[in-house]
Amino acid sequence: MKPIGPIPPAFAGQQGELAIGGVSVSELAEKAGQTPFYVYDLALASAQVARFRTAMPDGLHLHYAVKANPYPAVIQHFMELTDGLDMASGGELAVVRDCGADMAHVSFAGPGKRDGELELAISLGATVNLESETEAERALAIAGKLAITPKLAVRVNPDFELKGSGMSMGGGAKPFGVDQERVPALVWRLLDAGADWRGFHIYSGSQSLDAEAIAQSQEASIALAADLAETIGEAPKTVNLGGGFGIPYTANDTPLDVEQVGERLGAALAGREDILADTQFMIELGRWLIGEAGVYVARILDRKVSKGELFIVTDGGMHHHLAASGNFGMVMKRNYPVAIALKMGAEPAESATIVGPLCTPLDRLAVDIAVPRADIGDLVAVFASGAYGLSASPIHFLSHPNAAEIVVNERKITI
Ligand SMILES: *Cc1c(COP(=O)(O)O)cnc(C)c1O
Repeated sequence: MKPIGPIPPAFAGQQGELAIGGVSVSELAEKAGQTPFYVYDLALASAQVARFRTAMPDGLHLHYAVKANPYPAVIQHFMELTDGLDMASGGELAVVRDCGADMAHVSFAGPGKRDGELELAISLGATVNLESETEAERALAIAGKLAITPKLAVRVNPDFELKGSGMSMGGGAKPFGVDQERVPALVWRLLDAGADWRGFHIYSGSQSLDAEAIAQSQEASIALAADLAETIGEAPKTVNLGGGFGIPYTANDTPLDVEQVGERLGAALAGREDILADTQFMIELGRWLIGEAGVYVARILDRKVSKGELFIVTDGGMHHHLAASGNFGMVMKRNYPVAIALKMGAEPAESATIVGPLCTPLDRLAVDIAVPRADIGDLVAVFASGAYGLSASPIHFLSHPNAAEIVVNERKITI
């Protein structure tokens, strides 16, 4: 038998039928109108924001990284609670525009921005985090054509990386950002061209559970921002320190000590160089804010035994939840936290592998786990599913119906 990941605290102690946001999972299934569905508990998202504010130094801004979960009701919730939104495409920009976001606090990063995306960002007044010198020239040319002073920041590829992160995005040769030694020349070019130079974006990794590593990376980022500012001879208005806060997914993962990160960051900011005295610092988070607030729910279609092994077949799988199948950001398939949703806390009665409906051996939601007796028609819950779930999955693969998405906030359900 293989272990499952830790069920998030909001659900771990429950007995009997799972409730999310105070609503039973069968009522949520009815409201969703189908299985499978994703449900996001916005009260848990609010609680994460509150925990962040308490742990972090005063004055630090928090941005929501929309690519973790671009469901509009989720974006709208974070629009109200955070200080800004970070985009990774023109498509995300269009969604937050339609949500009514204040573009003064929206930024747009990502290598390979098309002219149309740059035009959209600049005309809306969003900050473009430049990823290369050629992108800078294209942004300046587009701004000139539009007769708009563009808001431009420079994404820095630092010499260091965030150690122990699931995905590293800095250090060494990378498609992200401009190598740190070429940053001053690029900023001088932006200043010469009359752009509104916003500052630096230093994002060096994702899914880290190691407070010490995050603290070191933030300290190094603040020192690097000061060095670059001294060389440039001008202070950045903003420094985006990235994020990378992870959540536990599998059996050996332990939660990130955010309070420790906050303490260290407070000390680092208090001791920062004078040139950064008036700089606004920010952190951008996706996964940590919404990951544990999401649950993916599927219905059991079949139980079958092959060569003595039990397979529980559900209507949900990797086409909706690539990450839980172990094929997104995981080297080896390890089990996410899962449960039979009508039998929380029940004694295990058998071991089973939970699979989806796709004709591929990759389509597994959980491998060889202990479960209470589960029958056809029962519901299976996959926890820690609020970030990089549906939008990071191959929904067209095998042409099954898409998953539904709903939000719940203190018993109020919104489709
Ligand atoms: C993906 C991404 C994020 C969000 O990362 P999380 O691990 O979800 O917090 C933040 N900033 C940038 C630039 C990104 O590409």
